[in-house]
Amino acid sequence: MLSKKVQNHDGKKISFRFIKRMQRCERAGDNHGEPVKNTEPQATVPQLPEDAQPEEILVKGVAAAGGAVQIACSFSVEDLVIIDLIHKLKLPAGVFALDTGRLNEETYQVAEGITERYGIAIDWFFPRREEVEELLRAKGPYSFRESLENRHECCRIRKVEPLGRALEGLAGWITGMRKEQSTTRTELSCIEIDTLHGGLLKINPLANWSEAQVWEYAKTHRLPVNRLHAQAYPSIGCAPCTRAVAEGEHPRAGRWWWENPEQKECGLHR
Ligand code: SF4
Repeated sequence: MLSKKVQNHDGKKISFRFIKRMQRCERAGDNHGEPVKNTEPQATVPQLPEDAQPEEILVKGVAAAGGAVQIACSFSVEDLVIIDLIHKLKLPAGVFALDTGRLNEETYQVAEGITERYGIAIDWFFPRREEVEELLRAKGPYSFRESLENRHECCRIRKVEPLGRALEGLAGWITGMRKEQSTTRTELSCIEIDTLHGGLLKINPLANWSEAQVWEYAKTHRLPVNRLHAQAYPSIGCAPCTRAVAEGEHPRAGRWWWENPEQKECGLHR
């Protein structure tokens, strides 16, 4: 169930926000008020057949996490498919999103579509205001086009740091990543230990799916996909770092189009 609430051991309904806040507080007590990142693997990766389908990956992954799980929603068509599956499977998994401050208007409309369709509240995370102000005062609003280092700096401030806060208190997180999306994702596992984020379980239900399978599901179930997809935007990130692709181009060719394909990650996943 993609509801805002899950049942605790006493059968009482409690929200994901409440669970995460409690876990943050428990950890803060160990570290003089500062949140502590997980340092040990929190769960065991369950066995899956080679041809495991998204439903099985989700069910086993959420169960194996053994605690709060949320999907990191970038409002891609993949994320919409997963949210729909979570809803149908009635899994206790919530939704969080990172507002980088540079998203397209159309992306917020997808967020509204999700809330209306499933009746869920999205757990939004923003970058730290001081860091964004400092970046813009020092380098202006388009520093990410000047060098890879600058691009990584902007992604770190607007995405990576907020993601760290979003993951605090979670036992696992779900992503919409697929192997065929880019040269940086060919080795992706369906479920893995996320060593980058201290041993959380990372669940990638669509790892083995093709783009055609994703779109077939989205059309069959009339998911509220981003209107920009119909304008030749197969992959959508921040507005100034995404453009439409030409026919025959790789679906992620419009993301950071001025960089080499091997560099096209924002730091969220590697
Ligand atoms: Fe900054 Fe572009 Fe990264 Fe968004 S995608 S955080 S605007 S560099």
